[in-house]
Amino acid sequence: MPKISSVRGRILYNSRGAKTIEVDVISDKEHMGRACAPSGASVGKYEAQSFADNKAEKSLQVLQKNIKRFIGLESDDLKSIQGVIREIDDTSNYSKIGGAVAYAVTIASMDSAARACGEPMFKIISQTRNPRFPFPLGNILGGGAHAGPGTPDIQEILICSVGAKSVREAIETNFAVHKELGRVLQEKDPRFTKGRGDEGGWAPQMDNEEALEVSARACESLGYTLGKEVALGVDFASSTQWDEKKKKYVYDRAGFENTPDEQVDFAAGIIKKYKLIYAEDAVHEEAFADMARLAKKFPRVLITGDDLTVTNPKILKKAVSKKSCSGVILKVNQAGSLYDALEFARIATQNKIGIITSHRSGESVDHQISHIGIATGSKMLKVGVLGGERIAKLNELVRLSEDHVKSMASL
Ligand code: PEP
Ligand code: MG
Repeated sequence: MPKISSVRGRILYNSRGAKTIEVDVISDKEHMGRACAPSGASVGKYEAQSFADNKAEKSLQVLQKNIKRFIGLESDDLKSIQGVIREIDDTSNYSKIGGAVAYAVTIASMDSAARACGEPMFKIISQTRNPRFPFPLGNILGGGAHAGPGTPDIQEILICSVGAKSVREAIETNFAVHKELGRVLQEKDPRFTKGRGDEGGWAPQMDNEEALEVSARACESLGYTLGKEVALGVDFASSTQWDEKKKKYVYDRAGFENTPDEQVDFAAGIIKKYKLIYAEDAVHEEAFADMARLAKKFPRVLITGDDLTVTNPKILKKAVSKKSCSGVILKVNQAGSLYDALEFARIATQNKIGIITSHRSGESVDHQISHIGIATGSKMLKVGVLGGERIAKLNELVRLSEDHVKSMASL
């Protein structure tokens, strides 16, 4: 088995130009794996902390002081690598070393092991004997924390080509809908600048309802029927709207407020009207009972936790016991390390909860999350539609379709 011969970290920048950590792990002095940590804008309260003392420099120092401890470990031995990270940092949120280092070391090691073994990375960490492609789920219109004033309060309207028979067809259908939506938006407002949010979805000046209408119209004008060839999803990212003092969801761009009951009705109305296949964080990150109401009401929709479950195995167990969701977002850097994220995936699968492996709004051009999506048997891979850092993940799926993976996941 390949052994780690060197580890090197550095500070780089993500797609928003913010500092992040990249790590190179070399096995047997020749096989280099490399991973660069992403970062979120709508960050869950219980996510791993990205950096020690909130500084990338401090996290890098901690890594550099401890590099020797990783040398000689088998590079595919995720448990031992995690063990060393836990010797350095025993906090629940990785506040001593930073989640960015935990992310980059664990993924770069698996990447290095895969290169040393001449295998695609998903095989090194696979939790399934039947690898299949998750359906790409992409942001076509963005607002909330990912775009400026005047855009919708809702963070993301998403497209998923549910009728696609191949991953290439799914990707190309998503491109077509994104492009058509750009055309529809320009037709509606000739002054539309074609501005895009952090994840590459269009960022027009309009309210939530109008944004959903134009998204549905773009699908229909391509001849698609919602729910057949393509379906829409929404990431409400409701913790952004939740005002703990008022105990209300404040939609300040659209100019209304929802009580918790009104929020459940608001989300239910959108799910029904637009035949959503996917609804993420429709209520705030601690509203487990309200999520359960939606999960019960819509058994065929992926009622999905993101800020609610933050890729945390303990919180997922709570969500399972309360029947809060039928889907969960898996973001490795929310958990901290790949080890924790794979543990989270195992629990989700055991409990028949669909996994949606996801990018962050601040990304690198790495593509390992495409492998993580396949390895965990994810139903969907939420990685955007356009933008170099988004396309990197989609292109990796296409490469894998040549020799390694043939069929699509079942939704
Ligand atoms: C999300 O909320 O699902 C998301 C990808 O955004 P961020 O990375 O900003 O949390
Ligand atoms: Mg989200």
